[in-house]
Amino acid sequence: MSEWEIHAVKYADRNARTRADSFIIDDNHDAPHAMDYFIWVLIRGGDVLLVDTGYDTEEGTARGRPIAMDPRQALRPLNITPESVDQIIVTHLHYDHAGGLHLFPNAKLHMQTAEMAFATGPCMCQDHLRAPFTAGHVCEAVQRLYSGKVVFHDGDAEIADGVSVHCIGGHSRGLQCVRVRTKAGWMVLASDASHYYENFMARKAFPIVVDLQNMMDGFERLEVLASHPRLIVPGHDPLVREIFPAGVAPHINRLDAGPTAEVIL
Ligand SMILES: [Zn+2]
Ligand SMILES: [Zn+2]
Repeated sequence: MSEWEIHAVKYADRNARTRADSFIIDDNHDAPHAMDYFIWVLIRGGDVLLVDTGYDTEEGTARGRPIAMDPRQALRPLNITPESVDQIIVTHLHYDHAGGLHLFPNAKLHMQTAEMAFATGPCMCQDHLRAPFTAGHVCEAVQRLYSGKVVFHDGDAEIADGVSVHCIGGHSRGLQCVRVRTKAGWMVLASDASHYYENFMARKAFPIVVDLQNMMDGFERLEVLASHPRLIVPGHDPLVREIFPAGVAPHINRLDAGPTAEVIL
């Protein structure tokens, strides 16, 4: 069967961060450490699958984390209209991944059963665990469920020929990565299973974590799922935009041919 195109669409960044925000233990903890925010788009012929949705201006204002571009506008160079999106793989329900669900009203959501249970269950009584979620986004997922538009997966599942999801957990209870067949081989969109290359390459945990063992085991899992470690795409690393070819617009990179340079930590 034929292979998928993958487009990484950057809609925001946040650069007033330090390495302490990215790694639980780091000697150089107060050095600056920038973060990019992406939506990923899988295209094959007329088939389009969105992986996550970003978040909107309202959420950006509420969190003091402004976006550079509305997700709908960010997707326009790929000829995607919000109404035409019929399937979204939701890697997890954190605000920066599920904060645009309402912008794509016709889409069916693919998510892990564990993520919905986590985001609507007793763990959310803890401020610390609740912080990366926004109630409105979780409610949007529940609304979609009651419209018959949520497909739950438990662990590993095929979404389409050449596209599968795999529950990693760790950072959020039902976090799933996405494995995609491309001309470069099996690529893995890690999403927040590895925010940066350094998280999985140096086995360094990210500070937002619900199960540390799952997070550490997840780094290994990413390497098993990808044809080669260079085909693992971290969820928030600005390096992605440096080592993958440019795409159809300045804020978009094309991932499916693989990176043009190696990452050396
Ligand atoms: Zn997250
Ligand atoms: Zn994230």
